[in-house]
Amino acid sequence: MSRTITLVSGASRGIGKAVAKRFAKEGHFVIGTATTEKGAALIDDYLHDSGGIGRVLDVRDPEQIDKLFEEIESVYGAVQVLVNNAGITKDGLLMRMKDEDWESVIDTNLTSVYRMSKRAVRGMMKARRGRIINISSVVAKMGNAGQSNYAATKAGLEGFSRTLAREIGSRQVTINCVAPGLIETDMTDELDERLLNSMLDAVPIGRLGQPEDIAAAVLFLAGDEASYITGAVIPVNGGMYM
Ligand code: NAP
Repeated sequence: MSRTITLVSGASRGIGKAVAKRFAKEGHFVIGTATTEKGAALIDDYLHDSGGIGRVLDVRDPEQIDKLFEEIESVYGAVQVLVNNAGITKDGLLMRMKDEDWESVIDTNLTSVYRMSKRAVRGMMKARRGRIINISSVVAKMGNAGQSNYAATKAGLEGFSRTLAREIGSRQVTINCVAPGLIETDMTDELDERLLNSMLDAVPIGRLGQPEDIAAAVLFLAGDEASYITGAVIPVNGGMYM
């Protein structure tokens, strides 16, 4: 049987890297992306044994998205699992937020998912099978002072997913979200230690999550046993928000 073709955006580090590695371990053919040649080479390296590959992709650039899909489709076949993971934060209280910080977070975290999903869904509808998994965040539902741009993208992602789920479900294509809480990556490394500790006080499990905790939920949603789940958001947050 041929291998499932899985595209993971933002696979150079953190959650995306853990997802790409886990899928590769489970036998998927994984294409992982990074914004730089160096990042793509790093992905090539860690996927090498599984036959997977790294590619450069800025998810804000529609031309790069088209080019990557064209390459994958012509060389390997249509994408069967798409994990929209790439994301950034540009935090600041609304009163002081710069327009460019609002716009770059919306472009990177939300508009990119519209573009990537639109491109992937073509092949999935034709194949009458496919999985899209979007990485949301606990702040989509909870809110977080200083993250109005980021929370807007993640809440938008969840609404987008529920709507697309209704449009593509009859073709057995599902779309779901995984909403991580506090996960130990470069993104949380940027947080002030006092703030991080006070946030951890609100986590019943009492520890930061690991990227692998998220990868496990993404893998479940991509599998055959999740074929009746669509439009859902799976929280993986140690109980931080219930
Ligand atoms: P991270 O360690 O900062 O990694 C971010 C990834 O996104 C990198 O691979 C980066 O590529 C890629 N990326 C950034 N801008 C991009 C662009 N314009 N085009 C393509 N790729 C781009 O972040 P993370 O913590 O693993 O987060 C991954 C996802 O989980 C994000 O969507 C984030 O919002 C979500 N999340 C994280 C947490 C957490 O606590 N860490 C919590 C909730 C949700 P380069 O290496 O090339 O820059």
